[in-house]
Amino acid sequence: MARKKSATNPAEVASLERSDAPRIANDVVPSSCKMCGSTERTEYSNTRQVELSGTCQVTGRVFTQVIWRDCTCLECGQKRCDRTPVFEGETAAA
Ligand SMILES: [Zn+2]
Repeated sequence: MARKKSATNPAEVASLERSDAPRIANDVVPSSCKMCGSTERTEYSNTRQVELSGTCQVTGRVFTQVIWRDCTCLECGQKRCDRTPVFEGETAAA
């Protein structure tokens, strides 16, 4: 008799995880120009790291610092300031 199986408790979920499978890369969206949409940009300059706590509206994760970096779009020349949150328990990759 086939019993309907659903993984609801953490132990069952863990048993469903494939430990031999590679993790799927889940890159965050690269910063892009608001004007033309290009992701081509100059090297970052004028990096500022600010102690600023908050919650990421996209992932719901808590960040403790925010890094601001200036760059310029290589397509249209629009200057912009990229903002990167540093999440709790992570080290800043400035
Ligand atoms: Zn641009």
